[in-house]
Amino acid sequence: MIFMKVLVAEDNAINQLLARGLLKRCNAIVTVVVNGREAVDAWSAGPFDLILMDIQMPEMDGLEATRVIRSRELPGAHTPIIAVTARAMTGDREACLAAGMDGYISKPIRSVDLMAMIARLTVVAASTVPTRALP
Ligand code: MN
Repeated sequence: MIFMKVLVAEDNAINQLLARGLLKRCNAIVTVVVNGREAVDAWSAGPFDLILMDIQMPEMDGLEATRVIRSRELPGAHTPIIAVTARAMTGDREACLAAGMDGYISKPIRSVDLMAMIARLTVVAASTVPTRALP
Protein backbone atom coordinates (compact mmCIF):
# COMPACT_ATOMS: atom_id res chain seq x y z
CA MET A 1 0.00 0.00 0.00
CA ILE A 2 1.65 3.17 -1.19
CA PHE A 3 -1.00 5.79 -0.84
CA MET A 4 -4.48 5.28 0.43
CA LYS A 5 -7.36 7.35 1.78
CA VAL A 6 -8.94 5.55 4.71
CA LEU A 7 -12.09 6.44 6.64
CA VAL A 8 -12.15 5.23 10.25
CA ALA A 9 -15.58 5.18 11.94
CA GLU A 10 -14.99 4.60 15.64
CA ASP A 11 -16.51 6.19 18.73
CA ASN A 12 -13.78 5.22 21.20
CA ALA A 13 -10.83 7.64 21.47
CA ILE A 14 -8.26 4.96 22.31
CA ASN A 15 -9.31 2.81 19.38
CA GLN A 16 -9.25 5.88 17.11
CA LEU A 17 -5.63 6.51 18.10
CA LEU A 18 -4.69 2.87 17.57
CA ALA A 19 -6.25 2.72 14.10
CA ARG A 20 -4.77 6.05 13.10
CA GLY A 21 -1.31 4.96 14.23
CA LEU A 22 -1.41 1.65 12.38
CA LEU A 23 -2.69 3.24 9.18
CA LYS A 24 -0.24 6.14 9.21
CA ARG A 25 2.60 3.63 9.34
CA CYS A 26 1.29 2.53 5.94
CA ASN A 27 1.34 6.13 4.66
CA ALA A 28 -2.44 6.19 4.60
CA ILE A 29 -4.32 9.46 4.82
CA VAL A 30 -6.75 8.94 7.68
CA THR A 31 -10.11 10.58 8.37
CA VAL A 32 -11.80 9.73 11.67
CA VAL A 33 -15.53 10.03 12.38
CA VAL A 34 -17.38 9.03 15.54
CA ASN A 35 -20.66 7.44 14.45
CA GLY A 36 -22.37 5.79 11.52
CA ARG A 37 -24.23 8.89 10.40
CA GLU A 38 -20.93 10.79 10.11
CA ALA A 39 -19.45 7.81 8.28
CA VAL A 40 -22.21 7.97 5.65
CA ASP A 41 -21.71 11.74 5.29
CA ALA A 42 -17.91 11.38 4.97
CA TRP A 43 -18.29 8.57 2.45
CA SER A 44 -20.66 10.77 0.39
CA ALA A 45 -18.04 13.50 0.35
CA GLY A 46 -15.24 10.95 -0.41
CA PRO A 47 -13.94 9.06 -2.24
CA PHE A 48 -12.14 6.71 0.15
CA ASP A 49 -10.13 3.63 -0.77
CA LEU A 50 -11.14 1.80 2.40
CA ILE A 51 -13.44 2.14 5.41
CA LEU A 52 -12.75 0.66 8.85
CA MET A 53 -16.18 0.45 10.47
CA ASP A 54 -16.75 -0.10 14.18
CA ILE A 55 -19.96 -2.04 14.76
CA GLN A 56 -21.15 -0.49 18.01
CA MET A 57 -21.46 3.29 17.69
CA PRO A 58 -24.02 5.85 18.91
CA GLU A 59 -26.71 7.36 16.64
CA MET A 60 -26.14 4.88 13.81
CA ASP A 61 -24.23 1.63 14.19
CA GLY A 62 -21.74 0.21 11.72
CA LEU A 63 -24.11 -2.35 10.25
CA GLU A 64 -26.73 0.28 9.45
CA ALA A 65 -24.14 2.72 8.07
CA THR A 66 -22.83 -0.03 5.79
CA ARG A 67 -26.31 -0.86 4.56
CA VAL A 68 -26.93 2.82 3.76
CA ILE A 69 -23.63 3.15 1.91
CA ARG A 70 -24.25 -0.01 -0.12
CA SER A 71 -27.75 1.20 -1.02
CA ARG A 72 -26.31 4.46 -2.36
CA GLU A 73 -23.34 3.12 -4.30
CA LEU A 74 -23.56 3.44 -8.06
CA PRO A 75 -23.50 0.23 -10.12
CA GLY A 76 -19.92 -1.02 -10.35
CA ALA A 77 -18.70 1.16 -7.50
CA HIS A 78 -17.66 -0.58 -4.30
CA THR A 79 -15.81 0.92 -1.34
CA PRO A 80 -14.20 -1.89 0.68
CA ILE A 81 -15.54 -1.88 4.25
CA ILE A 82 -13.83 -3.79 7.05
CA ALA A 83 -15.89 -4.42 10.17
CA VAL A 84 -14.07 -3.81 13.45
CA THR A 85 -15.71 -5.17 16.56
CA ALA A 86 -15.01 -6.20 20.11
CA ARG A 87 -17.94 -8.56 20.10
CA ALA A 88 -17.11 -12.22 19.73
CA MET A 89 -20.62 -13.59 19.43
CA THR A 90 -21.33 -16.27 16.86
CA GLY A 91 -23.22 -14.77 13.99
CA ASP A 92 -21.33 -11.47 14.05
CA ARG A 93 -19.32 -12.34 11.00
CA GLU A 94 -22.46 -13.36 9.13
CA ALA A 95 -24.24 -10.16 10.21
CA CYS A 96 -21.34 -8.06 8.94
CA LEU A 97 -21.20 -9.80 5.59
CA ALA A 98 -24.99 -9.67 5.25
CA ALA A 99 -24.85 -5.89 5.81
CA GLY A 100 -22.42 -5.62 2.89
CA MET A 101 -19.06 -5.56 4.64
CA ASP A 102 -16.09 -7.17 2.89
CA GLY A 103 -14.19 -8.42 5.90
CA TYR A 104 -14.06 -8.60 9.65
CA ILE A 105 -11.32 -8.01 12.22
CA SER A 106 -11.56 -7.94 15.98
CA LYS A 107 -10.41 -5.39 18.53
CA PRO A 108 -7.86 -4.50 19.58
CA ILE A 109 -6.76 -4.14 15.96
CA ARG A 110 -3.55 -6.03 15.34
CA SER A 111 -1.27 -4.73 12.62
CA VAL A 112 -0.85 -8.20 11.11
CA ASP A 113 -4.63 -8.70 10.84
CA LEU A 114 -5.18 -5.27 9.31
CA MET A 115 -2.39 -5.69 6.76
CA ALA A 116 -3.61 -9.16 5.78
CA MET A 117 -7.14 -7.87 5.29
CA ILE A 118 -6.00 -4.89 3.22
CA ALA A 119 -3.84 -7.17 1.06
CA ARG A 120 -6.77 -9.52 0.49
CA LEU A 121 -9.18 -6.70 -0.42
CA THR A 122 -6.61 -5.08 -2.70
CA VAL A 123 -6.12 -8.34 -4.60
CA VAL A 124 -9.88 -8.79 -4.92
CA ALA A 125 -10.33 -5.23 -6.16
CA ALA A 126 -7.47 -5.52 -8.65
CA SER A 127 -8.78 -8.79 -10.05
CA THR A 128 -12.20 -7.30 -10.77
CA VAL A 129 -10.92 -4.25 -12.66
CA PRO A 130 -11.28 -4.82 -16.42
CA THR A 131 -7.90 -4.46 -18.11
CA ARG A 132 -9.37 -4.06 -21.58
CA ALA A 133 -12.69 -3.48 -23.23
CA LEU A 134 -14.67 -6.53 -24.21
CA PRO A 135 -14.97 -7.11 -27.97
MN1 MN B 1 -17.82 1.44 19.45
